[in-house]
Amino acid sequence: MQLICLDLEGVLVPEIWIEVSNRTGLEALARTTRDEPDYDKLMRYRLDLLRHHGLRLADIQQVIASMAPLEGAPAFLDALRARYQVVILSDTFYEFAGPLMRQLGRPTLFCHRLEVGADGFVARYHLRMADQKRAAVRAFQGLNYRVIAAGDSYNDTAMLAAADAGIFFRPPPAIAAQFPQFGVTQSYRELEAAIGAAAAPIA
Ligand SMILES: [Mg+2]
Repeated sequence: MQLICLDLEGVLVPEIWIEVSNRTGLEALARTTRDEPDYDKLMRYRLDLLRHHGLRLADIQQVIASMAPLEGAPAFLDALRARYQVVILSDTFYEFAGPLMRQLGRPTLFCHRLEVGADGFVARYHLRMADQKRAAVRAFQGLNYRVIAAGDSYNDTAMLAAADAGIFFRPPPAIAAQFPQFGVTQSYRELEAAIGAAAAPIA
């Protein structure tokens, strides 16, 4: 039995923080783990910024609701789900992903959550667990699934390595070069073909 694990941002939807930065004009929100490798520091910086600029969770959700999945993503995901069980493993938050997941037909999503204060501002974030993408792949394998995983960035590499087959989708060239063991795909057609090839031996 095959199970497909897909990253969300950069694979099916745009990078949420970067889109929120573009749409609110708050350039500082576009800071990523490439600029600030300490994730906790980065998140506290982002939440402080939101509060400083008077942006409550509802405001951010409104911005996200105006976003759309990447072009072709809903059709790709539908086709994939017709053939395989698919689970999305993401480091985003349920409170952010909701409006986009609706547009993707509400596939199963494992991610993290935000805590909102009585004032409507995001008070803090809660990671469900550390290294959740890799842990999920291991758990599915423990349930006797053969896991094929696809992601676009550094935070996917542990998931791709743990999977029975790992595939990059539009990765930054430097990351692809650092992990040459994972094949690179640039379109949904290529990704679907790569998944098909990885699934074929025991399909
Ligand atoms: Mg990603």
